[in-house]
Amino acid sequence: MADVESPTAEVEAFVDTNWTLDLTLRAWWDRLAAAGFAFPTWPEGLGGRSWSAGRAREVGAALAAAGVVGPPAGVGQNLGGPTLVAHGTHEQQRALVPPLASGAEGWCQLFSEPGAGSDLAGLQTRAVRDGDEWIVNGQKVWNSSAHIADRGLLLARTDSSVPKHEGISYFVIDMDQPGVETRPLVQMNGEAEFCEVFLTDARIPADRLIGGLGDGWSVTQTTLAVERAGVASSGARGLVSGVPGRLGGMLDRTVGEVLDRAARSRRRAISGFVIDNRSFRQLAEAAGRSRDPIVRQQLASFRTSTDINRYSGLRARASAAAGNRPGPESSTGKLAMSDIAKASRDLAFTLLGADGMLADEDAPAAGAYHLVALASFGAGMGGGTDEIQRNVIGERALGLPKEPQVDRGVPFDQLRVGTQRRDDEGESNP
Ligand SMILES: Cc1cc2nc3c(=O)[nH]c(=O)nc-3n(C[C@H](O)[C@H](O)[C@H](O)COP(=O)(O)OP(=O)(O)OC[C@H]3O[C@@H](n4cnc5c(N)ncnc54)[C@H](O)[C@@H]3O)c2cc1C
Repeated sequence: MADVESPTAEVEAFVDTNWTLDLTLRAWWDRLAAAGFAFPTWPEGLGGRSWSAGRAREVGAALAAAGVVGPPAGVGQNLGGPTLVAHGTHEQQRALVPPLASGAEGWCQLFSEPGAGSDLAGLQTRAVRDGDEWIVNGQKVWNSSAHIADRGLLLARTDSSVPKHEGISYFVIDMDQPGVETRPLVQMNGEAEFCEVFLTDARIPADRLIGGLGDGWSVTQTTLAVERAGVASSGARGLVSGVPGRLGGMLDRTVGEVLDRAARSRRRAISGFVIDNRSFRQLAEAAGRSRDPIVRQQLASFRTSTDINRYSGLRARASAAAGNRPGPESSTGKLAMSDIAKASRDLAFTLLGADGMLADEDAPAAGAYHLVALASFGAGMGGGTDEIQRNVIGERALGLPKEPQVDRGVPFDQLRVGTQRRDDEGESNP
């Protein structure tokens, strides 16, 4: 559909007709998706309208201005939807995308393994074809929200006789089955947002293979580029959302309750990896330091960094919406966000002063600043570490020589870390 005029008036009319505080979140999200306002860049009938990223942002801004609850936000919505829109068959899109658009389902990303994080292509989880199904065995780790996920985006090795990047396939797996065991991991900030997942003869119907057999690595590039861009941009501004999926526990709450809880939760306002500029201004005022020239300079510097990164993110998304392949912006933006997270942590503790030594309910904002400060380290790891982003920028943007790779062109089962050789020779991983 051509981008002729601003969608704001249409969104306002939609809100006038459809929004009431006693609607359940499920019903509101259904309406947003049916109108194509949930994910406007996705195709019509799948929760969107095939609109440009710019127009989608206007929809988000109009929803935020109307004070309504925004579309569902989760791993499936952020990563699964865009990946399926790019690589799924028509049938896969019709079956899998609508429940994401309406928030009926929450998904997780089952990529990393104990021996395969930065070297993701070294993954050892295996999928073996059995009639109309695939049988999966292996272990994943650091899987955000896996304990409340309905489905997972899974990478598994389907051919060990070819070099490591060529034998990987990309699946969507149902989490609610006997072969999937999910164990939450408690982080140093006391939260348990991600899990380890054990797959023991778990089953996947054959039609849940996304992209071709052995083409998983190219599908993965889409997911990773979307993920980096998402971390780099740190999400939409001013829109309250909710946790999608049955196990998220929010679908049957009224939207009034969702807004109410968000307004009351000081912790929720200050969350993620980075503290927002408004909270910093309030914190400086509360500490009586908003006129301190050094503090003002630090606040201005922080604001400048976040604004520059936001504009870079907008440029990257506009380029992607124009059909260009993801460029180095997703890596530079993610690196910048990692620096911003550290700056946010340091600025928070500067402003908190001695209160920075308090935690939980005793601390300002019920300890929310601490949670963000302790989570800040994750910004440089999740979605690919800072070092890996630097490698990507060096090799793909600057044309520097590639890192030495001893495993290039070597069949996976001939590598020392390959399970077959390890099993055959009774060796442990070097
Ligand atoms: C908050 C958070 C959420 C996450 N969510 C998910 C999720 O939902 N799903 C999922 O599958 N995974 C998830 N992860 C895992 C994440 O993708 C990995 O942590 C990341 O890819 C790094 O892998 P690793 O932890 O195994 O570290 P390693 O790969 O073991 O790296 C260890 C160190 O070595 C460095 N290093 C490794 N290789 C190189 C190299 N070639 N050159 C230079 N330095 C190198 C790294 O930069 C790092 O400092 C999450 C992680 C975090 C922190």
